[in-house]
Amino acid sequence: MSKLPNVTTSIFTVMSKMAAEHNAINLSQGFPNFPVDERLTEIVSRLAHEDVHQYTPMSGYPPLLTKIATLVKSSYNRNILPETQILITAGATQAIFTSLLALLKPNDEVIILDPSYDCYEAPILLSQAKPMRVSLNDDYTPNWNAIASTFSEKTKMIIINNPHNPTGKILNESDFEKLELLLEKYPNALLLSDEVYEYITFEQKHISTHTRPKLIDRCITISSFGKSFHVTGWKIGYLVAPDYLIKEIKKVHQFLVFSVNSICQIAVSEYLDLVNINEINSLYQKKRDYFRTLLKNSRFKLMPCEGTYFQVASYANISKENDVDFCKRLITEYGVAAIPISTFYENGKDLKLIRFCFAKDNQTLEEAARRLTVI
Ligand code: PMP
Ligand code: GLN
Repeated sequence: MSKLPNVTTSIFTVMSKMAAEHNAINLSQGFPNFPVDERLTEIVSRLAHEDVHQYTPMSGYPPLLTKIATLVKSSYNRNILPETQILITAGATQAIFTSLLALLKPNDEVIILDPSYDCYEAPILLSQAKPMRVSLNDDYTPNWNAIASTFSEKTKMIIINNPHNPTGKILNESDFEKLELLLEKYPNALLLSDEVYEYITFEQKHISTHTRPKLIDRCITISSFGKSFHVTGWKIGYLVAPDYLIKEIKKVHQFLVFSVNSICQIAVSEYLDLVNINEINSLYQKKRDYFRTLLKNSRFKLMPCEGTYFQVASYANISKENDVDFCKRLITEYGVAAIPISTFYENGKDLKLIRFCFAKDNQTLEEAARRLTVI
């Protein structure tokens, strides 16, 4: 008997596979296709010949923990203790999975905001807890009234994803004030904040939970070096949480992976001394603007994109097909792969919207746009 009867192969796998089979330009699954910074690849080549191939301590390579504390201080002016409040994980996915498994009990309720990224629900269900999905408003702002009426004494956690995949929306000051007011009423509820795109925001500044004193004592904040350093395949991320939570999370982590890939940890640790992480915003802002300009004469209607490397577009002017069928036809007839947004909703709400990943070199964006403008 299946423990996850409704879980199927992830849409990212399905679309990337189909893109490869049809030799299409893959703007579906989110990953960069431009070269990684040579300074980072040089560090890895050198490290391969050094004595760095055995387990690191369970929580992470100590110099990396210290550098993350420095990064959180410089980005958000928050003091965290490297030894006790940070855990290095095999990507944000493992940070999320481990946290949920460690902290949820049967029948706990967890609020998720739809459209939502796909990795939250499975660990909730495996913990025999209940996902409570609340739709965002039409402009992708959180519907705080609906969230408040879903909250109860059974609510163990609310998950936010900011900047938001797939919509590119970011939370503003008023959203945080409403969240804080709500959580004040429920002192036992926790917050999991998925901030993997924290360094990819544009006109509006990212507000991190690290900067919210009313939240940090009950919050697990999740980051990913895969996103920030264009190395999604390295699967390296981290979480920051208060001692009483991370203590429980580490109990699961030590038996799930024990520790994370040593070379990647050491390489990231050295690279953090060389790189200006704040330059990532302007790299992606240029790509967003370029991609949007290239699509200006297409029949797609482009939605606002405040952060992440995803552009959502409406094809309502082009076709009445559902978004999954439209994406499949986009691959087979036009040679471009995208992600149907309905797959981020509990009930597959079809809004005629699809998501393109613009973390690509200019040549790829130009060729994709050329194909998309003939539709
Ligand atoms: N959360 C969101 C919102 C994401 O888009 C991703 C993307 N891959 C992840 C978590 C997982 O990150 P990682 O690849 O570091 O596991
Ligand atoms: N986060 C990536 C995306 O949104 C997908 C990663 C994966 O395939 N698990 O496209």
